[in-house]
Amino acid sequence: MKAPEIRFTCQPGCTKCCDQQGFVYVSEADILRAAKFVKLSPAKFEEKYVYRTTNQRRFRKPPEKQCPFLESYGCSIHPAKPTQCKTFPFWPELVENRAEWKRTGKYCPGIGKGELIQIGEAMERAEEQRLAYPEDYPG
Ligand code: SF4
Repeated sequence: MKAPEIRFTCQPGCTKCCDQQGFVYVSEADILRAAKFVKLSPAKFEEKYVYRTTNQRRFRKPPEKQCPFLESYGCSIHPAKPTQCKTFPFWPELVENRAEWKRTGKYCPGIGKGELIQIGEAMERAEEQRLAYPEDYPG
């Protein structure tokens, strides 16, 4: 796959990525950080917000929105948001694939804006994503 030319600047007031259909996967560290931020014990936080499968953890999805922490003004746990939210759109499957990067630009207005980002920097951020969710990026 050909790596795309990467320009990206997140647009103020936008929450389109938070609104895409799908799950918000969380690492163990993400759970601890978010629990601390909302002042709940990790056990209480998990009971209320986390759903575990055999090898993954994700936020429980409320019926009317994609994420329990998405409010009309934006992310209510922004300083402690999960790694996948923090690293978006620098996910390995996007920064390593020109077509996927372009497709993501159809809903993310930040893609294609701003200074050209060095591929090394984009890959470094993609690596953060890879390390946080080893079950999604085996090998
Ligand atoms: S969709 Fe893109 S521009 Fe909008 S909040 Fe998400 S990353 Fe930022």
